[in-house]
Amino acid sequence: MNSATSHLPSSTSHKLPDWLDPAPWLNRTFSASDIECALGAESPDEETLAALLSPAAADFLEPMAARAQALTRRHFGRTVQLYVPLYLSSWCSGGCAYCGFASDRNTDRHALAFDAVSKELDAIKSMGFEEVLLLTGERSSKADLDYLRECVGLAARRFHNVAIEVFPMAEEEYRSLAEAGCTGVTIYQETYHPETYDRMHRWGPKKDFFQRLEAPERALSGGLRFAGIGALLGLADPRYDMLALYRHARHLQKTHWQSGLTISFPRIRNEAGGFIAPHPVDEKLLAQILFAFRICLPDVPLVLSTRESAAFRDGMAGLGCNKMSIASKTTVGGYGDEGSEEGQFDVSDDRGLDEFCAMLRSKKLEPVFKNWDEVYR
Ligand code: SF4
Repeated sequence: MNSATSHLPSSTSHKLPDWLDPAPWLNRTFSASDIECALGAESPDEETLAALLSPAAADFLEPMAARAQALTRRHFGRTVQLYVPLYLSSWCSGGCAYCGFASDRNTDRHALAFDAVSKELDAIKSMGFEEVLLLTGERSSKADLDYLRECVGLAARRFHNVAIEVFPMAEEEYRSLAEAGCTGVTIYQETYHPETYDRMHRWGPKKDFFQRLEAPERALSGGLRFAGIGALLGLADPRYDMLALYRHARHLQKTHWQSGLTISFPRIRNEAGGFIAPHPVDEKLLAQILFAFRICLPDVPLVLSTRESAAFRDGMAGLGCNKMSIASKTTVGGYGDEGSEEGQFDVSDDRGLDEFCAMLRSKKLEPVFKNWDEVYR
């Protein structure tokens, strides 16, 4: 254990806890009549999800889309909530095989100074956003807890929702960020398959599977209002990862029922190191996954980022997903004056905010920038 993680619980076990292990479903074969039953289920459960994720359900995309759209309308109306990411730092000691910021990548490293952070936040605010997601790599001397707390404070003076997608922390560290104005955390497990996780995370603090797995619970116990979870599609068998993701979501709903939860479906994108996804997920399967989750977790916001193409996102808006990023940069900075050239990965949907909102309105969907205020607490 290195000094950056010495205050966090750690484990070297490769065995999934029973509450997370999706193995019971993996050898089950589903027929067309099983899919019809799943689509008609009054209270969709884990068996419903396993059926809707199965190869047999690929022939039922249209009825799945119709049910997903009806549930999205019932729980979220015609709204699509918008947010934007701001990369604060590309310094990272991590060795994630799929990431352009990994420490063996020959890339220029930057961390925004506080005055540059303020300028970036002002630029984002002037675009109309009310929710910002602040990102860093692993904890480093350039971007540690003190740096992050200062950046959260700068953002909280301007935005109603300030979420972070950074390094896992201890509960008391999350609490100090909540006190600075942080409202949520996004932390993807990347893959729930322990052996694949071990192979993909070659070195660095992120190598500890369980320290990362338990981070959303520590964040919610530390006072953050919502947690965003997900798996990076393409690293392992997508059905395995999606079933485990569902179990993780249900676990958080039980243990932190008073907190908010969002689920994202990032797919591996091109990055400077040329990583090739060992289990590629095409758009058809991604759509099936989104519909299956909407049907089985009807009131959980489902997120789709600009990793996906404009055409796919246009099709999914309001159908399965109801929260989207737009106008995103994956470089450090880039909204105001400063910006580095190499990003963490390539963005696919590079439209501006106005163009994206016009598309939503043309589909009779309503872009939403703010859905919560401290005064409601
Ligand atoms: S995914 Fe995060 S932790 Fe891993 S190398 Fe990239 S920035 Fe670092």
